[in-house]
Amino acid sequence: MTTLLWLRRDLRRADLPVLLAAADATSDDVAVVFVVDPALWQSGGTVRRAWLAASVQATNDSYDGQLTVLYGDPRDVIPAAARRIGVTSVHVSRETTPFGSRRDQQVAKALRDNGIDWVETGTPYAIGPGTLTTKAGTGFKVFTAYRRAWSDHGAPAPAGDAEPSWRNVDSDAQALAALRAAQDAPGLIDLPEAGESAALGRWRDFLDEALGDYDTDRDRADRHGTSGLSPYLKVGAIHPRTLLADLGSRSGTGRYTFVSELAWRDFYADVLWRQPRSGWHDLTDALQHMPYDEVGPDVEAWRQGRTGYPFVDAGMRQLLATGWMHNRVRMVTASFLTKDLHVWWPVGASFFLNRLLDGDVASNNHGWQWVAGTGTDAAPYFRVFNPITQGKKFDPDGDYVRRWVPELRHLSGSAVHEPWRHTDGYREGYPERIVDHAAERHVALERYQSNRAAT
Ligand code: FAD
Repeated sequence: MTTLLWLRRDLRRADLPVLLAAADATSDDVAVVFVVDPALWQSGGTVRRAWLAASVQATNDSYDGQLTVLYGDPRDVIPAAARRIGVTSVHVSRETTPFGSRRDQQVAKALRDNGIDWVETGTPYAIGPGTLTTKAGTGFKVFTAYRRAWSDHGAPAPAGDAEPSWRNVDSDAQALAALRAAQDAPGLIDLPEAGESAALGRWRDFLDEALGDYDTDRDRADRHGTSGLSPYLKVGAIHPRTLLADLGSRSGTGRYTFVSELAWRDFYADVLWRQPRSGWHDLTDALQHMPYDEVGPDVEAWRQGRTGYPFVDAGMRQLLATGWMHNRVRMVTASFLTKDLHVWWPVGASFFLNRLLDGDVASNNHGWQWVAGTGTDAAPYFRVFNPITQGKKFDPDGDYVRRWVPELRHLSGSAVHEPWRHTDGYREGYPERIVDHAAERHVALERYQSNRAAT
């Protein structure tokens, strides 16, 4: 008998419970499949598509060249492949996003109608969505309580290896062409090396070089103080379970804080699973009467990193150039769009989502809502990030800004954060500030007051 293992956000071979389940369920062989779904493929941005394609290719190497790529709507493609190969069961890691879980229900039904089992094992998270509840049996609304329950529960140990024999199935030419085209897209930025061995290498470097100072350095935009693992976690090239097991014997505040960040990832996935609407709508109704501005030229300046605020522009240019942005700067750029330009957060969230290698609807859209003041544990609306003081604090020598904003490289030290205060500040054609932060902060607070009065 043959089983079918359908990989999605679990593009790896190691620490993969669903692979063990697929291998256990058969005495014969396992067919491993990835589906290029045109609906998803075409909706993601060029960079995300290329990263996924490179990750799929690297996964094929992990599976000794035995990964089959198919093209089409999984609701048709998976049942058709299952019938063609003659499998008894289809195995997946459980998908918990609104899109993924809806799709899976339909695929599972089509399979069951054909007498084929649908088996879900594991999730992309250390502790899967829906696992943790309050004493009252509801989901957690705030992170601190979730974090406590998450620690008490503990993550399972990594899964062992499986060495099944593989069932070779031909890939679709259209799927292979789509993967190639994604990686050859004109003007594509340089991507990091994809795949699980690259992820593990980065993880080991982080453990050796940065974990000890993580607690303090993680906020410094000018340092390599964070793991840079988010693009790998996104596609499942590495699983948080593996990270937590490696951290087991270590101590220190760096370790504690890093583990908390992994808990944030699980928390946001849990919130999205419980409240799917929060993906693209306000989680809370705290700002239900907030007036927002239309998208205009200022938003385009924000997108291009030409707001005239160096720390904001450095962040947006880092995003455009690398597909990644430092967490602190994500908060500052998101605050600028929502509080200085008064634009509703989904406008920025969708821009980020398409350009980030780690673009993830749970972490991204709830990260945006945290900043905007509509999410879980939301920063109080009146806490408006000041792009100048944030820059001076988290890029004190100005190195981060100079790296991404070449027009300001003639300014030394923290002078780069305020070119308007220097007689030769605008020598290289850097734009003047598109808005006055102090004035827009005032406008934001006035709108907040009127929203409160109307609530
Ligand atoms: P590290 O500091 O090394 O953290 C390790 C891992 O913990 C990360 O890889 C990530 O999986 C998780 N993590 C860290 N911080 C957070 C957080 N605040 N929320 C959830 N998980 C976290 N993260 C994404 O993975 N995808 C997104 O699309 C995304 N969009 C964001 C948008 C905004 C507006 C904000 C404020 C944050 C967003 N984040 C997102 C969270 C965070 O910025 C990134 O996870 C982090 O910058 C990734 O870099 P790293 O891997 O070096 O992180």
